[in-house]
Amino acid sequence: MLVPELETEPDAVARQRMDQGNEFEEALLERFSEGEGDHLVIGGMSWDEEIETTIAAMDGGLLFIWNGSLPLDEAGRRSGKPDLLVREGDGYLPVDVKHHRTLKEEQGGSALVSKADLPNLAAATDLEGFVLAPNKNDTLQLAHYRRMLDACGFGSDSSLGGIIGKEGLVVWYDLDEPRFTTKSTSGKRKTKKRSPMEVYDHEFGFRLDVAAAARAHKENSSVELLVEPVRVSECGACGFNEVCSPLLEAGFGSTSLLPRVGYRQWLQLKEAGLLDRQQVADLSYPTAKLVSQRVDVPKVLNLAATSDSAAPVAELIPRAKKQIETLLNAGIVAVSDVLTLDQETAALPGFVAEAILNARAALGSEPVYRRLEADGDVPRADIEVDIDMENVLEGVYLWGALLTHRSGEIGISEGYHPFATFDQVDEESEIEVLLGMWHWLSDVRQQTSAQGLTFKAFVWHEQAENTQLRRIVKSSPAEFREEIDSLIASDEWVDLKRVFDLSWITGGSSSLKVIAPFADFDWEVEDAGGAMSMVKYDKAVDGDQDAETWLLDYNRGDVEATAAIREWLHEHGASWPTVNTR
Ligand code: SF4
Repeated sequence: MLVPELETEPDAVARQRMDQGNEFEEALLERFSEGEGDHLVIGGMSWDEEIETTIAAMDGGLLFIWNGSLPLDEAGRRSGKPDLLVREGDGYLPVDVKHHRTLKEEQGGSALVSKADLPNLAAATDLEGFVLAPNKNDTLQLAHYRRMLDACGFGSDSSLGGIIGKEGLVVWYDLDEPRFTTKSTSGKRKTKKRSPMEVYDHEFGFRLDVAAAARAHKENSSVELLVEPVRVSECGACGFNEVCSPLLEAGFGSTSLLPRVGYRQWLQLKEAGLLDRQQVADLSYPTAKLVSQRVDVPKVLNLAATSDSAAPVAELIPRAKKQIETLLNAGIVAVSDVLTLDQETAALPGFVAEAILNARAALGSEPVYRRLEADGDVPRADIEVDIDMENVLEGVYLWGALLTHRSGEIGISEGYHPFATFDQVDEESEIEVLLGMWHWLSDVRQQTSAQGLTFKAFVWHEQAENTQLRRIVKSSPAEFREEIDSLIASDEWVDLKRVFDLSWITGGSSSLKVIAPFADFDWEVEDAGGAMSMVKYDKAVDGDQDAETWLLDYNRGDVEATAAIREWLHEHGASWPTVNTR
């Protein structure tokens, strides 16, 4: 694709993150500027003047230069504006401010840091019990500034660069230290550890090649582009999304729009000449299904081509008992049945079977299809509880539960029950919050059982909740851990997403945010999503009541959404058409 110039407005999440980042940076600047050493804070001037002032300050050997602008590196095609330049020897080290954590607690660990009152390397000390949080993007940004400083003659002999994170310390990274595992095409090993500088030089060089090819393609369309858009998880937060999405969705849509078709699978399909969803939908599902069940279909087809068409399939591969059983279960009994399978599909990998169904569902006229072999059962109970948790890096700060009396009454009020802390969550407070929810849930289960009623708890994608539950209680008494494990293992704990995926298919994502609108459910809060909840959490911790209300309403929306989906599936799920499996 060409590399267009973008004039995009940041979305609400990005805007709030930028505001938070700016506030954080201003507060830090104030704090650091009160420290020792010669400081210059640049601002309130044109870009050219900023560059001139920065160069003059570096020429003058100032210790700290805040908000400087480096001159354009025209040969290297780089521009940049590091938050802080710190003199080291005859040159300068880049430092950037980030509104996230830069250190991780680790026994026996040590990290090189400088304090706020003197953020230079000479005053740096080892902070014991901590290690650097491995943030690749931060170090690549520092590598970019380092190359710019080298280009204008102010690079330092030191290979360090600093990040000032939420801890309020300058945390120093060695940009020449191999720390990232990358693919290797030379040597015996398939991976190799590379330094931020090596990774940056490679990635930046590739981007320059991409841009050069795009420019050449614009002049002469016979010049091949180096990249084309592929839907990957990063697209949502990428500035080019609005350019790429129409390209991805044009015609029958890129195969990368299909669930579980990432870059690797997209490339495998492309290499097989399958460029859009219609081409995938046109493949033979029975053939692909057998491949996915580990039948060596190309071999069976080859043998069948020279065999008597009335011969039993077992004669083709007499020793492969398991494969014969799979073929017979699929109705492939005789050689003539084998010959109905498709050679082209047989050569494709196992993931293609699911991709075919998804492509057919995505291109079909109905929003949702039933899977042929599925029972379509939706587990129900007299007393139902929908559960969802919200967490940040530091822990789970909110468990929300929606209680519904479908049949009978247990003396506990129906509706939304939140258990939360809006102080900065830590180990102690997250266990307290969990205990609050757990005691309430145990009470609901006891009352349900006392009334002779049935109970079920529902989550959407249980992996998240189960992982957090087990992590939080890992140091709790064995009895409590067993109680949690036993509920998770029981049929009273239902992953509604799994129920959906087993019986229905849309051809797209089956995340809660995508499926709930099919059930006519919408969140009351604006910009409902995990990214915004992180922004709101930071505000709530700072005492913002509106942010706290937003988080509770958002979490209530999540549990109401699972309840709505369940009702929708129960009412209508059995009547939807089945996806074509021919
Ligand atoms: S990450 Fe996605 S949106 Fe961004 S350039 Fe790549 S394909 Fe386009």
